[in-house]
Amino acid sequence: MTQETYHKVIDRIYREVLPYHGRGKVADYIPALSEVDPRQYGIALETLDGATVAKGDASTCFSIQSISKVFTFAMVVRHLGEKIWESVGREPSGNPFNSLVQLEHEKGIPRNPFINAGALVITDRLIDIYPRPKEAILDFVRELCGNNDIYYDRRVAVSEREHADRNMALAYFMKSFGNIHNDVDTLIDVYCHQCSIAMNCIDLARSFKFLAHRGVNPIDGKRILTESQAKRLGAVMATCGFYDESGDFAFRVGLPGKSGVGGGIVAYLPGKLSIAVWSPELDSHGNSLMGIETLERFTTDISSSIF
Ligand code: GLN
Repeated sequence: MTQETYHKVIDRIYREVLPYHGRGKVADYIPALSEVDPRQYGIALETLDGATVAKGDASTCFSIQSISKVFTFAMVVRHLGEKIWESVGREPSGNPFNSLVQLEHEKGIPRNPFINAGALVITDRLIDIYPRPKEAILDFVRELCGNNDIYYDRRVAVSEREHADRNMALAYFMKSFGNIHNDVDTLIDVYCHQCSIAMNCIDLARSFKFLAHRGVNPIDGKRILTESQAKRLGAVMATCGFYDESGDFAFRVGLPGKSGVGGGIVAYLPGKLSIAVWSPELDSHGNSLMGIETLERFTTDISSSIF
């Protein structure tokens, strides 16, 4: 497909989905997120052969929240390789992102790296590996999207830190099984920072291009993950990237991707393109309602998905 065709497809979808404003609800369990204007909607698309499309609020920065779990996972798997699967599983949980229920039965080993429990384990390993973890995360994300201005939104980080009781509970519980190594306060501080990273749809679409490009960042030609690691990360996104809505996302959209409660979703079609959508109003599973609607129409219109 040409740049012009993608433009037409995105323009049409944007017009069709815009009236969906008001159907979802902005996240309110982190006060700083509840203050975001709900009536925003952006789309950015980047193909590996050079087409780019940006529509609506594609240049407005927002809190990427759980999308950061993909970045930290990539950083850790690069260092630990297969060993990481001793500490975290790779099965969908069928439970909400911040659920505690499976952890006791499964002896402190979270189902997958994208529910909060699993992401906390990954961030804990990241703290083991990097002496300055917060700097390392920002450096990594900046390199992925080729934008040195990516920053932590301190207001969001502080707000989340003040309301982190459930994530602290998850971390302490896993620590009792020996699956968290570091001090919980330090861990929660790094985790709240990674979730507070502010990015726009254009940066996000760029930052996922290395996954569409089988582990090599097309921006600078650097290999980030081995081909196998990139494929496997895609498999975990396709099965676990949308919490207890992962099956429905595969059914409706059919792309590996990741959502965050800030209303962002990034997804990609291997070998072809990456696409980011942002709209802060969420469905009942904590995923962007207009984001999923947009991506469902997108894969239908371009007649391509991973299936
Ligand atoms: N920072 C959020 C939390 O830990 C991330 C959740 C999300 O985006 N689903 O609760």
